[in-house]
Amino acid sequence: AEANEDIRRRIRTIPDFPKPGIQFRDITTLLLDPEGLALAVERMIAGVEGEIDLVAGIEARGFVFAPAVALALGAGVLLIRKDGKLPGATIVEDYALEYGTDRITIHADACAPGARILLVDDLIATGGTARAAVRLLRKAGATVEQAAFVIDLPDLGGADALRGDGIAVSALVA
Ligand code: IMP
Repeated sequence: AEANEDIRRRIRTIPDFPKPGIQFRDITTLLLDPEGLALAVERMIAGVEGEIDLVAGIEARGFVFAPAVALALGAGVLLIRKDGKLPGATIVEDYALEYGTDRITIHADACAPGARILLVDDLIATGGTARAAVRLLRKAGATVEQAAFVIDLPDLGGADALRGDGIAVSALVA
């Protein structure tokens, strides 16, 4: 049997969401299943090397996995948020979308210089979001060398681009 087939079959694909032509990978079915949730978290953790101080989750579905992974690693959770959500002083990073740009933020004092960070999200597609997150965390002085995803869409090249940024990328399902 294929590796992580038990996870793959708990993820569904919804056609034409959020717009026509997009095949949306929907992890809500994985999350609803206690065994599926446990397997996903367990295998995300299994790929981590060395000590991690903070697990950085990307809003919003990265927030589902970051705390579970962090608790198992004895790490804290750093929230990478969309613009305008954080109450304190922030640093920001912009990234290109198909049309326009988007912005992610963290609190300026969220991580100590040299903090060892694992980046977590549900899915990597073009890598635009994750690569911006790495730039943002590095701008804050953090050490970011690993990223874990549930799903990689390899045809879109994001994971390879992220590897080119010096990140060890793991994904459970491609
Ligand atoms: P990227 O920036 O193109 O790599 O897109 C990744 C970001 O968009 C992640 O934060 C994902 O949660 C979200 N995303 C893109 N496509 C999908 C999908 O098919 N299912 C769930 N999330 C997606």
